[in-house]
Amino acid sequence: SNFESLGLAAPLLHAVTQLGFTAPTSVQEQAIPAALKGGDWMVSSQTGSGKTAAFLLPVLHRLLNAGAAEQTRVATPRAVVLCPTRELAQQVSADAIDLMRGVGEALRAEAKQHPLRDAARGLRIATVVGGMPFGKQLFDLRGAQLVVATPGRLLDLHSRGQIRLDATQVLVVDEADRMLDLGFAEDLAAIADATAQRDQTMMFSATFAPRIMALASKLMRSPGRLEL
Ligand code: AMP
Repeated sequence: SNFESLGLAAPLLHAVTQLGFTAPTSVQEQAIPAALKGGDWMVSSQTGSGKTAAFLLPVLHRLLNAGAAEQTRVATPRAVVLCPTRELAQQVSADAIDLMRGVGEALRAEAKQHPLRDAARGLRIATVVGGMPFGKQLFDLRGAQLVVATPGRLLDLHSRGQIRLDATQVLVVDEADRMLDLGFAEDLAAIADATAQRDQTMMFSATFAPRIMALASKLMRSPGRLEL
């Protein structure tokens, strides 16, 4: 299989090529077309499987196709990715920024009026994690369309009114099994409530153990299952 057959916008195909990805991994091959179709998905995936790009590519595709974002005073992300640890959130953010660098390059090489250009320019990415000063995170949050966060800090900013979650369309929960190990079940439920208007939730987990299925039934509506 190849990336071209998955349904992604051309600038994203350029971006994966720039990263040296020649063919999709199996989780990418399955999760990307599924995510682009819409609806809720639970996906089994191990670290190192390429799962990060499996959710970032369809999320970025969607954000690019949603058009230029309005600049609001309080951050109002269209997509939120939740990670269990600060390190993982920072890695996911770095991967999203790498992909957007490739998108920017592809669009600059195109004719001036490429339809995705304004959306790509406005597609800011913020990282929201605990143990870091609020100042820089608040600066980065202004106008952010994609927020990659750990649950505690996200809820903290939300309760202070520094982030709005009522326009979030897509929620991704990465490493759901570790989320539960780290005691984030209640925080996940609170974030699910705050993003009740979302139309897509994707959950990635190393296993589909009963406790993961129980979490899935709280966060998702009749999710499709991709077992790899
Ligand atoms: P992940 O499982 O998301 O942590 O990804 C593991 C590593 O695989 C990362 O270094 C990615 O950059 C790399 N990677 C992801 N997708 C591909 C691909 N399709 N081809 C080659 N490398 C990839």
